Amino acid sequence: MTTELRGKVGIVTGGTSGIGRDAAVLFAKAGAKVVVAGRRELEGKETIDLVRAAGGDGLFVKTDVSQAAEVHALVRKTVEKYGRLDVAFNNAGIEGNWIPIAEQSEEDWDRTIDINLKGTWLCLKHEIRQMLKQGGGGAIVNMASVAGLVGSPGAATYCASKHGVMGLTKAAALENARSGIRVNVVCPAVIETPMVERIFGEPQFRKYALGLHPIGRFGTPMEVAEAVVWMCSDRASFMTGQSLVLDGGFLSDGCRETPVSMWVPMRASQSGSCVTMWTSTAGASRRKRLMAVM
Ligand code: NAD
Repeated sequence: MTTELRGKVGIVTGGTSGIGRDAAVLFAKAGAKVVVAGRRELEGKETIDLVRAAGGDGLFVKTDVSQAAEVHALVRKTVEKYGRLDVAFNNAGIEGNWIPIAEQSEEDWDRTIDINLKGTWLCLKHEIRQMLKQGGGGAIVNMASVAGLVGSPGAATYCASKHGVMGLTKAAALENARSGIRVNVVCPAVIETPMVERIFGEPQFRKYALGLHPIGRFGTPMEVAEAVVWMCSDRASFMTGQSLVLDGGFLSDGCRETPVSMWVPMRASQSGSCVTMWTSTAGASRRKRLMAVM
């Protein structure tokens, strides 16, 4: 057990798997009471079991973050159970369908934006309302991605949603700075989670994606959770409106082979999602790269 979040009450959305699950457990280990939000009841209860096994206390609230009434109820149930809300990690998100814009459906755009962007906005709205009402400040971390900082051919909707989260974070931070509510955003590159298994499951996709990370590996959910707990803690008390990039060197690598006009799509279908890989037709001796980013 550590003490960074001792006595605090926190929400983690998308806590039924991946980064959200590890964050929920780490919130608990850091001393917070943790409310886990997600759509899948069984997996949500499994996360709460892990929270309790780590010596913490938690509650699962079935929530679809794209639904205003459900997000409102999430915050209400948090306050009913634990009396207040101090910290939140708005992490829930989907990858959507990774195909070029010209082939993308309106339905896919709506679904990705509704969950990744509107969902984050709804969480901010209800969390901030509660924090303002109770007084004493608070800390919120939103989940974006390196795809909130750079573009990626084939992942336009995902990129748009994550760029949107970056803007939301800055505006929310400015609006609430004088109230002591800090709002920041975390931007990971590829992290080993079920989402990444869906996207880069096939060995050749995984190899391409690994090549984007100078550190030579993907990140782990716990590495993201560690940063989020710090951002939520009083140790990060002067940080607001900022993004923290966790990318194994991904964005520092200036050796990208674009221009994009030199890239051709190579499509591969996977169960439930369609992934487009973009490989360079030029510079055969140079490293091939998968241009899709998380
Ligand atoms: P994941 O699929 O394991 O987790 C996503 C979580 O969000 C799941 O618990 C899922 O049930 C939940 N979720 C999805 N739609 C929801 C909705 N409408 N309401 C409530 N919960 C919902 O994947 P992950 O990799 O852990 O992703 C977590 C977040 O991290 C996402 O926002 C993702 O975009 C972001 N991210 C992931 C990576 C990566 O490489 N894994 C990199 C950068 C950013």
